[in-house]
Amino acid sequence: MATLAPPKRTVSADEAREVAEAAREQEWAAPSFVRDLFLGKLRMDLIHPYPEQDADEVARAKPFLDKLERFLREDVDSDRIDREGEIPETVIDGLRQLGAFGIKIPREYGGLGLSQLSYMKAIELVSSVDGSLTALLSAHQSIGVPQPLKMFGNEAQKKKYFPRLAKGAISAFALTEHGVGSDPAAMETTAILDDDVWVLNGEKLWCTNGTKAELLVVMARTPSKMVSGKEKKQITAFIVETDWPGVEIVHRCHFMGLKALYNGVIRFTNVRVPKENVLWGEGKGLKLALITLNTGRLTLPISSVAAGKRCLEISRRWAAERVQWGRPIGQHDAIAQKIGTMAANTLAMEAVAELCGAMAERGGYDIRLEAAIAKLYNSEAGWRIIDDTVQIRGGRGYETADSLRARGEAPIPVERIMRDFRINLIFEGSSEIMHLFIAREAVDKHLQVAGDVVLPGKTVRERLAGLGRSAAFYGWWYPSRWLGWSLWPRYAEFGRLAKHVRFVERSCRRLARSVFHSMIRFGPKLELRQSVLFRLVDVAAELFAMAATCSRAQGLYKQDRAAGARAVKLADLFCRQARRRVRSKFNGLRRNEDVPTYKFAQEILAGEAVWRFAYMWPVRSSPGHCSMQTHCRLASNVVHPFKLKPRVVRQQLQVPRKQGEIGQLS
Ligand SMILES: Cc1cc2nc3c(=O)[nH]c(=O)nc-3n(C[C@H](O)[C@H](O)[C@H](O)COP(=O)(O)OP(=O)(O)OC[C@H]3O[C@@H](n4cnc5c(N)ncnc54)[C@H](O)[C@@H]3O)c2cc1C
Repeated sequence: MATLAPPKRTVSADEAREVAEAAREQEWAAPSFVRDLFLGKLRMDLIHPYPEQDADEVARAKPFLDKLERFLREDVDSDRIDREGEIPETVIDGLRQLGAFGIKIPREYGGLGLSQLSYMKAIELVSSVDGSLTALLSAHQSIGVPQPLKMFGNEAQKKKYFPRLAKGAISAFALTEHGVGSDPAAMETTAILDDDVWVLNGEKLWCTNGTKAELLVVMARTPSKMVSGKEKKQITAFIVETDWPGVEIVHRCHFMGLKALYNGVIRFTNVRVPKENVLWGEGKGLKLALITLNTGRLTLPISSVAAGKRCLEISRRWAAERVQWGRPIGQHDAIAQKIGTMAANTLAMEAVAELCGAMAERGGYDIRLEAAIAKLYNSEAGWRIIDDTVQIRGGRGYETADSLRARGEAPIPVERIMRDFRINLIFEGSSEIMHLFIAREAVDKHLQVAGDVVLPGKTVRERLAGLGRSAAFYGWWYPSRWLGWSLWPRYAEFGRLAKHVRFVERSCRRLARSVFHSMIRFGPKLELRQSVLFRLVDVAAELFAMAATCSRAQGLYKQDRAAGARAVKLADLFCRQARRRVRSKFNGLRRNEDVPTYKFAQEILAGEAVWRFAYMWPVRSSPGHCSMQTHCRLASNVVHPFKLKPRVVRQQLQVPRKQGEIGQLS
């Protein structure tokens, strides 16, 4: 059954940008470590000493975490969950009884009332056992109803829904549609006011927990408003109950991993949503989603840490046990390099994730950039660790746990860990979108100061005012990004790691200069130079990870010299490797193949380079359409591929070539 019609209209780049900009938090009311990094200022005081979790909170969380750990160990069979694609009801009920669906819900509403860090510790435990369970709990608590309700709900909404949620009414978050992946501007689910009731129509795709949920947060387009004579698109968030008439689960989706994900397509047909179920306010839905994700995004970084730790343990044991060519494989340099790097990265990932969690818990920080970096950095690093673990386990890394067990070997589920993990680089903001989100904030200060000078569509008056502002700001700011003492004895309190903190300081000034130079070099077209922006973001991510790791290791050293010395040694290793990556990213800003690569990709998209690949099996572009005919036509011509001119191939593939399509980057 066709569950989703293709979108009725396409959205222009300008429209998409407008919607995203309208949802952006414009203000920086609290300090941000990473925002300052981009401006060339190292604020170690914001993250050092490394924040400790409040001792009372640790004590409060301990009984729950202990029970959760025992439950996971004794009652959860992850191989079975993966094999059957279902989480047994007894497991879901067991989690309900532990209070695992209301970890952060305040106690007065029946929740456990624990903090963000305690929640992350619980998620780390669950993630080290089962990805589908993590998704169940985190789609409910990180992005489902409890988190936005806590942040934006009114008292009546909290009284009505928190107790149900805390008892284990499962919830979900429904934003994505067929045409709405990374870009919400194309949203087609609508809500229209009919007296005191909103009437909801549309279809949502890939809603995690959707097939089991009682409650949903649904994003829908509400009527546009006119602001200063311009139409302003509105997206509003609603709490919707799935047993209301008109809510229908149309399809349960299945994926490469997370086999027991209760993820579905949900259709809304004239669903009548009471006015009081609007969350926060009309038109604030997208902003609500973004702010919710600032802390919601911290789940994936901590589950990446869990994956890193588990893989390290698996790799360590196997590399010591498996003997090939006369030695344990861990003594062969190639494998030892992987294990050393894995350990260093896991330490850094943990330092980043827990630092962000502590910042969210303490308050007084704006963590939107830190959380985005944590999501991006940890999911990418986690994926590399898992890839290395598969390699270290060799053929056994590729074999399923059930198959290993059946032939008498330890059922180590590296293959499943890999399948379950891959989605982390795609959902809750794909790696590309995280880069763009961070890059937008990185240039924010410059746009505030000089936006009127460089952006198109400004009046002469605005440009002159912008020039004055720019002269006043850059006259001081730019020279000072070249000056500054970041050599010995600065940061001496970091001992052996001080040199790395000094490197972070020098490099953040270089980063700030590089952002500025890139803006001058590319002007408004910088937005199109994603490879340049991504390198700048990657530098910032490495510098943040280095700073967090140094602070963390130094903190451990202060607590316990013997154990801390190892952490310092590992942090030193991480920083040495990170410095090499930072230098390489900086070098890539000047020396790269971005433009020819982009241009060639456009030729491929236009069908011009297809002669080289035409033997490959064609891709179905939609369920009803198979490009087999095209393939056969092409295949008959490509017996001698070189005789085929690109234009002919393009015609045969019926790929239109629009003017100006190629060469957007120059
Ligand atoms: C298992 C699973 C669970 C999910 N759970 C939920 C859920 O609970 N609720 C919900 O609302 N959604 C959910 N989603 C949807 C998920 O958030 C989206 O898949 C994600 O936002 C990406 O959208 P897309 O897949 O349509 O990719 P697209 O947006 O089509 O992007 C395709 C590729 O292009 C890249 N890309 C897109 N735009 C740009 C750009 N401007 N510049 C550079 N690169 C770009 C993307 O990074 C990606 O690599 C889930 C998806 C899956 C698969």
